Amino acid sequence: MISVAVDAPMAATLDYAWSGETLPHGTWVLAPLGRRKVLGMVIHWDRLDSARGMSVDVSATLPPEKIKALEKRLSVLPAADPKWIDLMAFAARYYRRPFGTIAVGLLPKWLRDTKNYIPKKEGGRSNVDRLVGGLLESVQTPTDQASVEKIGGQRLELGGDGYQDKTLTASEPPLNSDQSRALAAIAHPGVFVLHGVTGSGKTRVYTEAARRCIASDPQAQVLVMVPEIGLTPQLVGRFTQAIPGVEIAVLHSEVTERERARLWLSAASGRARLVIGTRLSIMTPMPYLSLIIVDEEHDHSYKQQEGMRYSARDLAVWRAQQLGITLVLGSATPSAETWAQVQRHKYSYLALTHRATGEPAATIELIDTLHDPAKEGLCEKSRRAIAQVLADGGQILVFLNRRGYAPVLSCASCGWSSRCADCGVATVLHRPDRMEGASARSPLGQWRLQCHHCGIGSSVPRQCPDCGDLDLAPIGRGVQRLEDTLAATFPAARILRIDRDTVRQGKALAAEIEKIQRHEVDIVVGTQMLAKGHDFARMRLVVVADADTQLINPDFRAPERLFSTLIQVAGRAGRHEQSGVAARVLIQTRYPQHRLYRYLLNQDVAGYACAELLDRESANLPPFSHMAAVRAAHRDEGRTRKLLRLLRDELQQFAAQHDWPVTAYGPVARYPEMQAGKWRGQIVLESSARPALHQLLAVAENWMAEHRELDCHVDVDPVEV
Ligand code: ADP
Ligand code: ZN
Ligand code: ZN
Repeated sequence: MISVAVDAPMAATLDYAWSGETLPHGTWVLAPLGRRKVLGMVIHWDRLDSARGMSVDVSATLPPEKIKALEKRLSVLPAADPKWIDLMAFAARYYRRPFGTIAVGLLPKWLRDTKNYIPKKEGGRSNVDRLVGGLLESVQTPTDQASVEKIGGQRLELGGDGYQDKTLTASEPPLNSDQSRALAAIAHPGVFVLHGVTGSGKTRVYTEAARRCIASDPQAQVLVMVPEIGLTPQLVGRFTQAIPGVEIAVLHSEVTERERARLWLSAASGRARLVIGTRLSIMTPMPYLSLIIVDEEHDHSYKQQEGMRYSARDLAVWRAQQLGITLVLGSATPSAETWAQVQRHKYSYLALTHRATGEPAATIELIDTLHDPAKEGLCEKSRRAIAQVLADGGQILVFLNRRGYAPVLSCASCGWSSRCADCGVATVLHRPDRMEGASARSPLGQWRLQCHHCGIGSSVPRQCPDCGDLDLAPIGRGVQRLEDTLAATFPAARILRIDRDTVRQGKALAAEIEKIQRHEVDIVVGTQMLAKGHDFARMRLVVVADADTQLINPDFRAPERLFSTLIQVAGRAGRHEQSGVAARVLIQTRYPQHRLYRYLLNQDVAGYACAELLDRESANLPPFSHMAAVRAAHRDEGRTRKLLRLLRDELQQFAAQHDWPVTAYGPVARYPEMQAGKWRGQIVLESSARPALHQLLAVAENWMAEHRELDCHVDVDPVEV
């Protein structure tokens, strides 16, 4: 009898009959499931790492007459690495998903499609045969010794195919002492926090660490994770430049399914020495994985928000510790969770203390909008500062993290405001883009109202749907409207807007960024998209038009997120500034007294983190407690609330009976409350003991199975509550 994991929400593995040769742990097979044939992975239960307390569900025990025979062994796929299988088992157990849906279900779709294993004609080759064949024939660089020497010893004379870049790292300036110290430290296994502001030389440390790792061992593989790959073409470029001649797999969202399968195989077979990707790349099998780098570790996009709600950063920690290798968590603003681990001496702290290029950090100033009101979005002081920089031939970044023209359309006479019928949240007024010369005077009829939660758009009503009044007006200000203000105030300035509506793909963004770098624009106005890792030489002024909405957001992580965004935005200013004058950052706010700004003015990231941690500790919030959410959605709000209340009481009782230190809160509505016509609520479980929390989640899951009318899921370590 063979245990096989398949992509199905049932027991961890299914039993199959097999009379052929022994099938080792991790062998890929074709297995019948119902009327289908599916991809499966052979699991030897005794080979799963039980030392780590792995108790993944159980194998299904079927009556003998129900047991089917395995179809065949798929030797074309390299058998899964046992360590990787353990990682999958851990992730499945921790984030409470069926093992097979993770271990098999997260493979590239193309590899799960069983059609691709069937030869087109008798005796011919299947699609996968051909793909794997192609991989083997591709240029033999990854493990050949010459290329390794080339990298390690910088033997520039060794040319050859696929090796065009002759600059190597020789042309780079010498490492500074912070960088050398960091590199020396991370040569030993462990989890390291690399804390440094933008421009402090973190990327240089990543590329150098990866280069050394790959040069020191002819098989070593390196995994580099980034929050959003389309937005970091520069980063990928720097790795390819620093480590020429090795196979690099860049896991884009824009690659085809077949290409994704090829990259996966390349990593799984050990050919790809460097894998760069977003959160899902933590699931990539890499048998010789020796170093993991997580850039911008605080970024919330490392947390998957549907299906298996995993944190790629946290899994990276587990994976690095499992393998006894180095993990580098880099950030200008490490997360509270990460700071706490530093304080507990679980992670080592490495700081890059100043900008690698030596220029001064920007100075940050607050503008109190009570005294200097933001007219049309801009305070007087901001206007004067912009005019000054324009006169001096510098560039300006105006930051507003709000897409569209105005956050809501409203009726002046009855108070009606535009809402999404499905989600219940305000719909955002958008001016049509691409229309050359569109201005505030364009007829409103061509504009759209768009829901930023579900994406559904609708036309703008001519009159108020409630009272018929014709006087509908946009309320508030998005980047499009701010762009109008800037154009009206500085008619001679060249203005470029960058947000998700003007730039959808990484390539397009790279082109816009080049325009900025070639000084073809004077004022850049944009959203979050601009906050991340780009190098703007002449940016002498940053104006943050409005950060207040984020400041008063009830989510306990909202201030931390805002702080991080503002530090990042400030980091965009004044790199390579020749004049010697430090760049300025002006923040327009109604709450200049807010604690966050005290630390921001001094750019005291560590101080802010300490203050945050003290608050979290006294409120018993993560990272001082463990959290999980049980969420439910249903058409009937009253019924959902009632059922969730019952669940909360049941869980509380259960915990009390077993003396488990768990508290259940709620039910509370989620934001947005409505989605696809269903009301969404949750209860939140908080505990000082993880095992108790997990046991209680098992109780919650039984309850969920009995209440199928509700659309339920569990989120372990939720990032938005
Ligand atoms: P970060 O990733 O922290 O933003 P980078 O590695 O991109 O920092 O470095 C910022 C800038 O400083 C880059 O232009 C880089 O080429 C330069 N740089 C990095 N390290 C050094 C160094 N040791 N000496 C001089 N310049 C450096
Ligand atoms: Zn009205
Ligand atoms: Zn909606």
